[in-house]
Amino acid sequence: MSRLHCLIMLWVLSTFLIVSQAAAEDLVVSSDFPGGSAEVVKIDQNQRTILVRPAGDPQFGWPCWWYFQVTGITLGEELTVTVDASQMKQANGLKLSAAWALPEQAAFSSDQRLWSQTGPGKKQGETCVWNVKPEAKVVWFAWGPPFVPADAEESVKTLSQKHANVTAFELCKTRAGRSVPALVVSPVGEKDESRMVIWVQARQHAWESGGSWVGRGFIEWAVSDHPQAIALREKADIYYVPIMDIDNVATGNGGKNQVPHDHNRDWSEHPRWNAVQSAMKSLKALDESERLVLFVDLHNPGANSKQPYFYIAPPELDTQRRKALQDAFIAVCRQEMQEPFKLDQSTPSTGPKYDKRWKEISSNWVRSVTREYVVGITLETCWNTPHSTPAGYRTVGQQLGRGIARYLEQDPRSSPAPD
Ligand SMILES: [Zn+2]
Repeated sequence: MSRLHCLIMLWVLSTFLIVSQAAAEDLVVSSDFPGGSAEVVKIDQNQRTILVRPAGDPQFGWPCWWYFQVTGITLGEELTVTVDASQMKQANGLKLSAAWALPEQAAFSSDQRLWSQTGPGKKQGETCVWNVKPEAKVVWFAWGPPFVPADAEESVKTLSQKHANVTAFELCKTRAGRSVPALVVSPVGEKDESRMVIWVQARQHAWESGGSWVGRGFIEWAVSDHPQAIALREKADIYYVPIMDIDNVATGNGGKNQVPHDHNRDWSEHPRWNAVQSAMKSLKALDESERLVLFVDLHNPGANSKQPYFYIAPPELDTQRRKALQDAFIAVCRQEMQEPFKLDQSTPSTGPKYDKRWKEISSNWVRSVTREYVVGITLETCWNTPHSTPAGYRTVGQQLGRGIARYLEQDPRSSPAPD
């Protein structure tokens, strides 16, 4: 090849490189949408790396939740996304462990509807780095699959339109004026005051988005044509609240341990949060009419939990009969919850050693103020596993539904007191 040829080729090559580099758009990170949370620390447009921190205000709960959009992606390019969780503080100024904000696999989506997981990230100190090759020009990354107020709204609306026996209602308006969507499943036109009632709710802690996905799996199963679901509906009315702390979910805050206390430390004589106040009022009335038999509160636990588990009644709130019913409920759930998650054998309790406001925890309040046959329980579904996806969570919800259906094959109200 002649020197001239060589020079021409070099010129062509360098022009190509300049043009192709110029063709790459700038990456832009935004969290200005419902549920969004990210502080952009640095974007390197040449290296295609993004560094963010969770941006929640500790006054509104643990700032471990993050959720952001990236635009300007060239199809097929590799992005390096780093979340720095080293600066997280609780409202009292103490450090919050980075583990809460760093799933091994992050959630990502190209349409905010279908959520998959990235490959496992690389932990580097209190940061985690994920390499992703999106097949879209715009993608969203999040701590886990988001479930925001619009999803709750849409879910109760769709189910009520599709099923005659589902009625959507507003549990209340929040302190910030947002609507809290809820639904009840009950036969139309039938006023049977002896039917049992179950109450399932999620997201007293806003960041625990997995709770709403478990709830969605549960309620979609409960209204389905599955014979066990039909049998359940023949006996029981079902109340369902997809998101209790709507305000913090909407603003991308964590909710957990917010000031002065969070939703799940608010079940007192003077509840601060409207959703808690409304739920307490309804539950009390349902118990007074001797209809309430089961209350289930859905949560996500700590990063190291790899199996779902129940928080059960502390001995202080137990009677023999209550405990026998609770054991029976857990036993059927244990048979149902096998894959992808096996229900953990251990059943910790939320007594005085767990928290000084232990009496103001929802399931403990239910146990202390309702009739003896009412089971009040908390289900924690692990978030830091390859199955902690919408599909995995929904399966847990269906299994919970089957457990509930089997448990209620016999009416717990007529259960004998154990010898
Ligand atoms: Zn929680």
